[in-house]
Amino acid sequence: MNKFAKKFYDYVDSIEGYKCLTEYKGSSKKVTMFHEECGKKYEQTPSKFLMGRRCHNCSPSVRLTKEIIQSRLDEKFPNKFTIISEYKKL
Ligand SMILES: [Zn+2]
Repeated sequence: MNKFAKKFYDYVDSIEGYKCLTEYKGSSKKVTMFHEECGKKYEQTPSKFLMGRRCHNCSPSVRLTKEIIQSRLDEKFPNKFTIISEYKKL
C-alpha cells in the first residue's frame, strides 16, 4: 500500500461512521464509501473526502439549497410560496 492510500485509510478510520469499501487507486479516482448513520453507500473521490466532504445522501448542501431557494422566493413573492419538499438533483 502506498503512503497516500495509507493516509486516506487512516483518515477514514479516524472519522466516525464512515468506511471505504473499495480500493484506493488515486486521490481523484472514485471509491465507494459507506456511511453507517444512514446505511447508504455513495461514490466519492478520496481528495473530496480529505477536504471534508461527506455523505451525499445526508449532505448539508441539500438543506442549504432548499433554504436558498426559499429565501429567493421570499424576496420576489413574499409569503406566497413555501417549499415543502427537499430539492432533488435530477
Ligand atoms: Zn449518510
